[in-house]
Amino acid sequence: MVRIAVGILFIAVIVFVYRAWIHANPATVGFTLLVAILVISAIWGLRYAIFLSIISTLAYNFFFLPPIGTFTIADPQNWVALTAFLCTAIIASQLAERARREALSANRRRGEVERLYALSQDLLAAENVLSLVNAIPRNVVEALNATAVGIFLIERKKVYFSDLKAQELLNEEDLKAVANRGEPAQGVTPDLNFVPLRVGVRSVGSLGVAGARTSPQILDAVGSLIAIAIERAGAVEKLAHSEASRESDRLRSILLDSVTHDFRTPLTSIKASAQTLLDGALNDESRHELLTIINEESDRLDRLVGEAAEMAQLDSGALELHLEPHHIREAIEAAITSTKNALAKHPVNIVVDESIPETAMDLRRIGEVLAQLLDNAAKYSIPETQITITAEVQGRRLVTSVADQGPGIENFDQGMIFDKFYRGRGQRSIIQGTGMGLAIAKALVEAHGGTISVFSQLGRGSVFSFSLPLQLH
Ligand code: ADP
Repeated sequence: MVRIAVGILFIAVIVFVYRAWIHANPATVGFTLLVAILVISAIWGLRYAIFLSIISTLAYNFFFLPPIGTFTIADPQNWVALTAFLCTAIIASQLAERARREALSANRRRGEVERLYALSQDLLAAENVLSLVNAIPRNVVEALNATAVGIFLIERKKVYFSDLKAQELLNEEDLKAVANRGEPAQGVTPDLNFVPLRVGVRSVGSLGVAGARTSPQILDAVGSLIAIAIERAGAVEKLAHSEASRESDRLRSILLDSVTHDFRTPLTSIKASAQTLLDGALNDESRHELLTIINEESDRLDRLVGEAAEMAQLDSGALELHLEPHHIREAIEAAITSTKNALAKHPVNIVVDESIPETAMDLRRIGEVLAQLLDNAAKYSIPETQITITAEVQGRRLVTSVADQGPGIENFDQGMIFDKFYRGRGQRSIIQGTGMGLAIAKALVEAHGGTISVFSQLGRGSVFSFSLPLQLH
């Protein structure tokens, strides 16, 4: 009504202006009215334009065609003018309306395509099926402006809803029936639609949408998009699993190779020493020497077995931490005691501030990390060079470092030495080792929520540091 009133006012203003102020000829008035009707048609649509065309024809006749002030027409030529005016107004309005509708529907379609694109981006971003299926209903609600969405997956025999309300609006049985039939269906109300999720001709589930005004084609497209996204996520997941199991098989065989090789060396020494001892006829000094070898080599074997077992445990994710507040000094002392033999030829300098607060840690594990770093420091640097242990608070972290004056580590190696089984290129053939120590240390530190790193200069030495989070109050 408001629009009609405004339209009539518009026509009345034109009529008034031409009657009272500008005395133009009837053709000018006719064209002005025509333009007004076209504008109205383009903005508000055909219905208003036709109505106003009739009003304008009457007003034109009444005010501008002689005899003026009546609805009669004296000159038959003016009949032609009037009919031409009405026809032009209506036909032009129709064309304007068509253009308007097409623009509207093109805009709507563009909006739909944009939302479909956004939906496809969301769907393809998911890495695993579970998070994907949980997110899909809400994504579809957003993309289609729907009130409720549910999807049913045949393989999982489960329905996922966008929210609690959706459970009431969408019937599970309907969803299952559509999934099994593989054909779209309409629900009890016209704005309740179901489409199958199809990959090729195979139906993998169904999608139910309530309260969205979308074309069946769009719903169909959304259904296919979801089906493809679920298939893709499933495939990615399977691939990741098989890659993980291949990787763990590979690691297991490397571990076995490395362990058998490293076991053989101490075992050979023990066997040879024992054999010589059994053969007898040795003086005390030689016996003592052989027994020392047996003792040391069995320690080494023991450590190897321990490392291999620990690595396997870390790999399987079975690491359990017993976190309790401890002062880092306790871990340092434990580590020094356990690496006493290795450190025998190195002066050790400890710089630890007593004011450092206690930190939540698994004392045994952090002791192991430190022992590993100390062992390496002693192993890779020449005797009598100093090893320095420092601990200090940096921000919200407790940073503990072990510095040596050894050969240093090449830049290339620095990025690799924390990897399992990686051994420095320079040391590989000279110094015995398994390449497991730093990998274990890294896993243990990370399990505590910390990080481990190395700073090293060739020919000067290396500083290995690890941080532990401090719970500051
Ligand atoms: P392993 O000592 O059995 O080889 P690690 O994991 O403990 O295994 O160390 C990996 C590599 O890091 C070593 O092979 C060595 O090249 C290098 N590395 C570790 N600690 C030091 C150090 N303190 N000085 C120089 N190189 C080191």
